[in-house]
Amino acid sequence: LIRLSNIVKRFGSLTAVNNISLEIKPGEKLVIIGPSGSGKSTLLRAINFLEEIDEGTILFEGREVGYVQKKGRMVLDKPSRICKLRSEIGMVFQHFYLFPHMTVLGNVMEGPLTVQKKPVEEARDIAMAMLEKVGIADKKDVYPATLSGGQKQRVAIARAIAMRPKLMLFDEPTSALDPELVGEVFETIRSLAKEGMTMIVVTHQMGFAREIADRVIFMEQGGFIAQGDARDFFSTNQDNERVQSFLAKIL
Ligand code: ATP
Ligand code: MG
Repeated sequence: LIRLSNIVKRFGSLTAVNNISLEIKPGEKLVIIGPSGSGKSTLLRAINFLEEIDEGTILFEGREVGYVQKKGRMVLDKPSRICKLRSEIGMVFQHFYLFPHMTVLGNVMEGPLTVQKKPVEEARDIAMAMLEKVGIADKKDVYPATLSGGQKQRVAIARAIAMRPKLMLFDEPTSALDPELVGEVFETIRSLAKEGMTMIVVTHQMGFAREIADRVIFMEQGGFIAQGDARDFFSTNQDNERVQSFLAKIL
């Protein structure tokens, strides 16, 4: 579905993502773990074109996307094209970034309406279906400020999936939540996973990672240090010392 080749992202002298290559197959669930500052968010943001990469290529469904050559330099493609790509690659962040001046329903309708130019009726139907899916349809007319963190995050997920993305990126979707609200968000992501959604999830919750992942990648200092299928990765046979000590610290 998506193939990254030799992605590099620098912030001044700091290389946040250092020559990463990665392929995700349709339906695959990839979990990325790693210490703070290792470049996980930067990598996800690069995949969603929120971060302009310095080197590398991104192929989506076999086509190179997101960048054009300009005066011998690689630059981000036109905003309209990037917008179109973002509608196919949904992202959910640690902090929900809902539109505060719109109701829950308005938030979820916004993408289908303005990006996909759907008629209002259709956008509303899609939005309602998504709110049902994340179990929060009864809150459709309230404003985000009145919701709990878990509810806000479920609205954010509904808003992302309303665009019918082919790939979903989750960046620590539960780390801003009180512990008792984590479960409802995991449950929502789990049900999307069961429906066959392709996803990349960054999380520090190893129980969830183990449960949802087909494949796990451990990232450190901008690079992939270790990867493996979920069962091997979390087993006692994990032979990478860095991964061992990371897991020992957070489990
Ligand atoms: P965490 O687990 O804390 O979320 P992370 O793995 O997501 O960490 P990133 O947010 O990707 O890490 O950051 C990778 C590195 O890039 C860090 O050293 C960070 O300080 C740096 N960085 C990220 N964004 C910027 C920016 N906009 N400007 C400058 N440096 C940045
Ligand atoms: Mg991060």
